[in-house]
Amino acid sequence: MPVGSGFDLHRLVEGRPFLLGGVTIPFERGPLGHSDGDPLLHALCDAILGAAGQGDIGERFPDKDPRWQGVASELFVREAVRVAGEAGFVLENADTTVFAEHPRLAPHKAALRANLARILGLPETRVNVKAKTMEGLGPIGAGDAIAAMAVVSLVARPGPIRELKFDI
Ligand code: MG
Repeated sequence: MPVGSGFDLHRLVEGRPFLLGGVTIPFERGPLGHSDGDPLLHALCDAILGAAGQGDIGERFPDKDPRWQGVASELFVREAVRVAGEAGFVLENADTTVFAEHPRLAPHKAALRANLARILGLPETRVNVKAKTMEGLGPIGAGDAIAAMAVVSLVARPGPIRELKFDI
């Protein structure tokens, strides 16, 4: 059973919507990024690509490429699931942790979980979202950044029976 991990961190700046796990949460700042800057979806994307042995988000969606400017990061996760599928795997579960001092994420965890399950095509029982503060320490503790990590597992999809061709 292949397992993959992902991590991401973004600066929190004024004038950006606070997007996390594809959910917009009311807050005065949001993650800065070339795309929508969603650290939870970026960490998930990397975890899926990693488990499938398919590189990382930066290789597939370079932040110099204007195609990905302002794009909803759901697209990256869906592409990672598709790439893993092409490599012969289906997603089994996803466990995630968000590190943020503000806003408090506890009231939003259920919505985040539901949206991740929708994006990943998994039942909610196979998706988990945990939230931590940094006890006021470091750039995350000061509210200047938000980070997320994800761990996913895949299972090998039963392959098609290969047709054998003989030249007789
Ligand atoms: Mg990122």
